[in-house]
Formats: sequence, structure tokens, C-alpha cells
Amino acid sequence: MDIIRINELEVYAYHGVYADEREKGQFFYVNADLYVDTRKAGMTDDLNYSVNYGTVCEFIADFMKNNTYNLIETAAEQLAQALLLEFKPVKSLLLEVRKPSAPIALEFGSVSVEIVRGWHEAYIAFGSNMGDREKYIDDALAAVGKLPQIEIEAISDKIVTAPYGNVEQEDFLNGVIKVKTLLPAEELLQILQQIEQHAGRKREIHWGPRTLDLDILFYDDEIIATNNLVVPHPDMKNREFVLKPLMQIAPYKVHPVYHKTIKDMYDELR
Ligand code: AMP
Repeated sequence: MDIIRINELEVYAYHGVYADEREKGQFFYVNADLYVDTRKAGMTDDLNYSVNYGTVCEFIADFMKNNTYNLIETAAEQLAQALLLEFKPVKSLLLEVRKPSAPIALEFGSVSVEIVRGWHEAYIAFGSNMGDREKYIDDALAAVGKLPQIEIEAISDKIVTAPYGNVEQEDFLNGVIKVKTLLPAEELLQILQQIEQHAGRKREIHWGPRTLDLDILFYDDEIIATNNLVVPHPDMKNREFVLKPLMQIAPYKVHPVYHKTIKDMYDELR
């Protein structure tokens, strides 16, 4: 991806662990590589298709001056998030916050923190088979959509499906959404679990009835296998209630483990 680069932007600000630093302030220097597709701007000579680096510099300077953090880690983290939320053509960025006058009683050049942050694409399955299923799902999607770090880009139809596993229970209402998110996969899972809990979800019977179930199907093309989180969702290829709604919004997405499109996986299952 193309880069718009800001080099050594000087800002007088008040970040530091020591009270003295937060009162008197010092100079900070910010470097930013903004990953933006500049092709259209390059071909049309129209700034509307790119990001105004002057506006970005002012935004960075204001943000650094108007907030006070103990750590440059926090300054960088919060600034990265604010930039990604404010300047939508920026897909990801590399941000360095440098502090040449840090309180170190030795000769040194400078200390800095450098982070890479950006938007990720995730697919999330939703399901409910207890009570007012439609309302549980709508409330959950509204809660997801309200978070600034998550934007819903596509929603499948809600389909009625027979329950999975051998537990006697009501039919499910299932579907999937595509989101873009600034959250790492583990944090996305935590948020989804909070929304499940809010819906009164109880984990009593495996594959049993639930007010609300939210599963991460894909997170970019990452393969994740921790105790908490397995992505792509492992049982997806056997679940028509996942593949059918996915067919609606992402038929040609390629599963990063099986290297098959959703359409091929769906055809095989049927
Ligand atoms: P479930 O009954 O499907 O909601 O299972 C929830 C449990 O599965 C939680 O303990 C999660 O930590 C775990 N889990 C593993 N991988 C995933 C995933 N991709 N999405 C959601 N939950 C997951």
C-alpha cells in the first residue's frame, strides 16, 4: 500500500510519569507512515481522494497538546486510534512518538515508542433460539454497531435453522455480519462475550438453548489457536447455518486453512 509520511513533527506537550514533566512539558517528535491508497488522487490530482497531510499534522499536534498521559505508549496508542477513526482513507499506520528530553540522567539521543495499528476485517456469526430471538439479535447488532472501534459493513438475512447437536430445543435464528474493527481478535471476543452476557446468556448445556451466541468466524486471514479463541471457527465447514448466510455476503471469500471459497464449502456441505 502507498504511504503518506510525516517526519519529525515537533509538538510541545505534557506527557510523563513525573509531575514535573506534566507541569512544565517538553518537546515531542512524531513520525507517522499513513497507509493510504493514493492511486486515484495521483491520477485525478484531486485532494478529495487522499488525506490532507496538513490537517493530519494539526490533528496530531492538537491531540498531543490537549491530552496528558503518563506513558508515551499510551500517547501513541490513543493517537493512533484517534487518527484511524478521524481519517477514514488511512487503512493502517505506523506511528512513532519520540521524547528526546526524557528524564534519564545519562547522555542519550532520544527514546521513542513505535506502533503499527489499523483496521481489520472480521466475520461474526450470530444466533438465538430462546425468547424473542429477533430482539436479542437486533439488540446485539445495535450494541456492536454503537462501538466506535467496530463498523458493520454487511449483514446477512436472518435464517431459521434446526438446532445443531442432540439437544431437544427450539429452532434457531442465525446469520452473519461483516465488520471492520480496530480491535485485536482477543479484545473483539471479549466485547462479543460481554454482549452475550448482557443478553442473559447462560452456558449450561453444550449445544443447548441460548438467548444469544456470537462467534468470530474469520479475522483477516489470520489463523489463531489459543485456549480462548480458535479462528477460523473450527466447525464452520459442517454448519449450514453459518455457510448459508456467509454465502449471501461473502461467497468468494477464501478460507485461509482449507483454501476453498465459501461457495465451494457450501456446495460440498449440501
Ligand atoms: P460457544 O458456546 O460457541 O459460544 O463457545 C464459547 C467458547 O468458545 C468461549 O469460551 C470462547 O472462548 C470459545 N471460542 C473459541 N473460539 C471462538 C471463536 N472463534 N468465537 C467465539 N468463541 C470462541
